[in-house]
Amino acid sequence: MLRKPFVGGNWKCNGSRKFINSITNTFNSEIPNIKKVDVCLAPPNIYLERLQNKLRPDWLISAQNCYKEPKGAYTGEISCEMLKDMNIDWVILGHSERRHKFNESSKLIGEKTKMAISKDMNVIFCLGEKLEQRQNGETKRVVVDQLQSLSGIKDWSKIVLAYEPVWAIGTGVVAKPYQAEEVHSFLRQWFAENVSKSVSDQLRIIYGGSVSPNNSVELIEKPNVDGFLVGGYSLKPGFIDIIKNVI
Ligand code: PEP
Repeated sequence: MLRKPFVGGNWKCNGSRKFINSITNTFNSEIPNIKKVDVCLAPPNIYLERLQNKLRPDWLISAQNCYKEPKGAYTGEISCEMLKDMNIDWVILGHSERRHKFNESSKLIGEKTKMAISKDMNVIFCLGEKLEQRQNGETKRVVVDQLQSLSGIKDWSKIVLAYEPVWAIGTGVVAKPYQAEEVHSFLRQWFAENVSKSVSDQLRIIYGGSVSPNNSVELIEKPNVDGFLVGGYSLKPGFIDIIKNVI
């Protein structure tokens, strides 16, 4: 396969020390052919180190956010340098909850992404339209606008693109496989035309929004769906079944 599948788990603001102890017992169990997929879990920052200590070493660990500056008077923020200092190489940026609940602008998300890449971090870059935008036929325009914040990026190997329609996140309403494929293939074509054919071929474009063990079976059959970003189910043993479905 041209692209190694990627499954991310976004715990959002959930978890505890006790939860980490119990879920890692499940996640650390033997999974056949696990080397064929990249799995990356993103706990709240305060639990990054604990998860690092408990989780199998062949899974990656990600932060859920970072700031655009290396250090300074930015109360409440953490920098890429700090994450690197803690051996964290991944960060989720542009998640719809950051964009819409915390009003992060595309400009800020682009600046954070460029900072992360300059510090040799990998970014799960999220983008996607709201329901009203889809109903108005604006999906393609919205995702292209969100991509504009990444203009100037040279090293696309450090980015995994997560198409996450806002109407599907945490709602139980999953995009139909053809709807996900339509946007993923559009994005791949956009990269071929605006960046390069090799970046377009190699970029992993994953889908997020109410992914479950059941619906992941059909979604992963689509040629441009390279894996998933999973919220709710990444806190459940069923996350393992989603991983098995992409292998
Ligand atoms: C997410 O948080 O990125 C997400 C896709 O959540 P859920 O799977 O719960 O819809």
